[in-house]
Amino acid sequence: MVNKKITGRWRSERLGALGSAIFAEIAGWKEDALREGIDVIDLSIGSPDLPPAPIIREALSREVMLSERYAYPASRGSAAFRHKAAEWLRWRFGAELCPDHELVTLMGSQDGLAHLALAVTNPGDAVLVPDPGYPIYAASLAIAGVESIKVPLRAEHGFLPDLDAITEEQWGRARFILIGFPSNPVASVAELSLLEKLVVLAKRHQVLVVHDLAYSELAFDGFRPPSILQVPGALDIAVEFHSLSKSFNMAGCRIGFLAGNREAVGALRDLKANIDYGVFDAVQQAGITALDADMRRQLEPVAPIYQRRRDLFVPALAEAGWQVPLPRATMFIWAPLPPRAVSKGWSGRRISREMVKQAGVAVVPGEAFGEQGEGYVRIALVEPEERLAEAASRIGRFLNAID
Ligand SMILES: *Cc1c(COP(=O)(O)O)cnc(C)c1O
Repeated sequence: MVNKKITGRWRSERLGALGSAIFAEIAGWKEDALREGIDVIDLSIGSPDLPPAPIIREALSREVMLSERYAYPASRGSAAFRHKAAEWLRWRFGAELCPDHELVTLMGSQDGLAHLALAVTNPGDAVLVPDPGYPIYAASLAIAGVESIKVPLRAEHGFLPDLDAITEEQWGRARFILIGFPSNPVASVAELSLLEKLVVLAKRHQVLVVHDLAYSELAFDGFRPPSILQVPGALDIAVEFHSLSKSFNMAGCRIGFLAGNREAVGALRDLKANIDYGVFDAVQQAGITALDADMRRQLEPVAPIYQRRRDLFVPALAEAGWQVPLPRATMFIWAPLPPRAVSKGWSGRRISREMVKQAGVAVVPGEAFGEQGEGYVRIALVEPEERLAEAASRIGRFLNAID
């Protein structure tokens, strides 16, 4: 059992609002199972299990040998990386951005997501944020002392925000609205029309739109996730986070960028100039190689790998007695609890704990992502196909053993 101290002489109260306790709890279940000699198939984390393409790793290994790469990098990112990122946005989405004023390099988009509220809001402001949502969304608001106004993502609305349900009063109080499609954890996708509608509403209320597009390249069956930067006039009111972590398996050599409205981009750039000195130049060069190779179509795309895993795992789970929806994007399955668990009155937390202990399969309870996540678990397809097949059959045996 993990014993997390929430307050103390050298522990701020805001840490207690970060919601990381449940992830520590899951880690504890896994550790307990491993200690008992259980082989745990870990489908709980959203970290790609594959390395970057050889061409990216070769660039990185070349770059780390260059003596000139070891000065402090520029906090905002090298001009070369920002220009390449702008070129890639033009190639991928037809969006035109100024690399000097409308783009800032990040140590992964997590860095930007964690700091944006500090840069663009004041304590006591409010922000519209999805529930369920990627944990740093709400955590970044707690860090900044900002109130979060929850925008529920519900099954009956296709796990998309019901924009018409956001009241005038809520729009009036909000500094920005945070969304991210394809979504982690609910794996729903947005069509361009939703982003267009959001831009119209946001302009009317002068609320910044913040779009987290970490899964732009991880979609299936020919679907290509849209960028809010494709919407005419988006630069007046929107910013978008991009990450190379999922698109190019670069989670461990972290790099991402924020692109869009220059006031908001400039605010994050100015804040970060005080916090860090940016991304290791060798990693920025590797990022340039990744984006460049993508534009030349020299990379094996990662999406088909996850699509094959999905097409193996979802039917296998159905055979095991658990019907889950087929996601159109991301590495995740957002699974309503199986009927046997529901009839036992189990929570997502309970079934997740039992599944690690009894089946050796780790998933994340939906409540880790917000109140609306209750009744669901998130399963990440971050193991090879054989392991996923094994996980499905273990889950089947586990479900059958529930009386
Ligand atoms: C993984 C992930 C990120 C963070 O990506 P990094 O660029 O590695 O920091 C951001 N948003 C979502 C929704 C993610 O799933």
